[in-house]
Amino acid sequence: MSTRPTNLQRLDSVGERRCPGIVYLVGAGPGDPELLTLRAARLLTQADTVVYDHLVGDGILGLIRKEADLIYVGKEKSCHTLPQGEINALIVRLARQGKQVVRLKGGDPFIFGRGGEEAEVLADEDIPFEIVPGVTAASGVSSYAGIPLTHRDYAQSCVFATGHLKDDSLDLDWVNLAHPRQTVVIYMGLGALPEICRQLMAHGRAANIPAAVVEQGTTDKQRVVTGTLTTLPQLVAERKMKSPCLIIIGEVVALQEKLQWFHPDATASLGHAAIA
Ligand code: SAH
Repeated sequence: MSTRPTNLQRLDSVGERRCPGIVYLVGAGPGDPELLTLRAARLLTQADTVVYDHLVGDGILGLIRKEADLIYVGKEKSCHTLPQGEINALIVRLARQGKQVVRLKGGDPFIFGRGGEEAEVLADEDIPFEIVPGVTAASGVSSYAGIPLTHRDYAQSCVFATGHLKDDSLDLDWVNLAHPRQTVVIYMGLGALPEICRQLMAHGRAANIPAAVVEQGTTDKQRVVTGTLTTLPQLVAERKMKSPCLIIIGEVVALQEKLQWFHPDATASLGHAAIA
């Protein structure tokens, strides 16, 4: 168990605030603003400064207090607006200036969001911080696509992995990923999709296992393409799908046809929040 003092203890023991600022590492969910937690929505109305990533859409930015400063730090593959080290330094500096900082990230800050790295820096620098979880893409995007990640008839486990290419090679545990009756969800895997499908088949997954790619899930631009490990890469290439895309592989994908309920074109008439 950590022996680090809590923010409250810290205030008590010093008698005054050592650092009057605080950083909230907040998950913004996968896109639809209605998937924000109440806590995230409230913090957005109270923040002095919001430091946000490219995956956070206008519908959510619109909820931020008008007087707050907005700082975009990007974070698209090969197009980082600010390197991670500078983002870390920025949030530390803002907190030291006494600001209530919301560090707003797509999905959940602790799932492929580098929230852990930022929290470590804040802890090292003795800056008070809190983590506000968000709906991660696997959960939000699969729900809006109509693909249950587990199902008693088809999948008893579910694995999240990243398909981010490092030195043109994918360093994943293919033996584990290829387990039967398991759903595999891959973040940041669009560029590596052909290799992912090839490796899963090479490690024993059947060529006709259903698989899907969901682009901009939960938003009014959501597109879902389903196929099999053999057909999916070509289908995705033909449709020129672009990031952010989530890959979902496993028998559960076959349920998508029956369970799809979210029709982006009809969101307005259904009273669902349209996303700018
Ligand atoms: N922390 C985030 C993930 C950040 S990594 C989370 O918990 O969701 C970024 C990757 O997440 C994207 O490349 C994509 O694979 C996935 N992703 C995030 N939002 C998405 C969306 N709306 N639709 C499809 N994929 C999404």
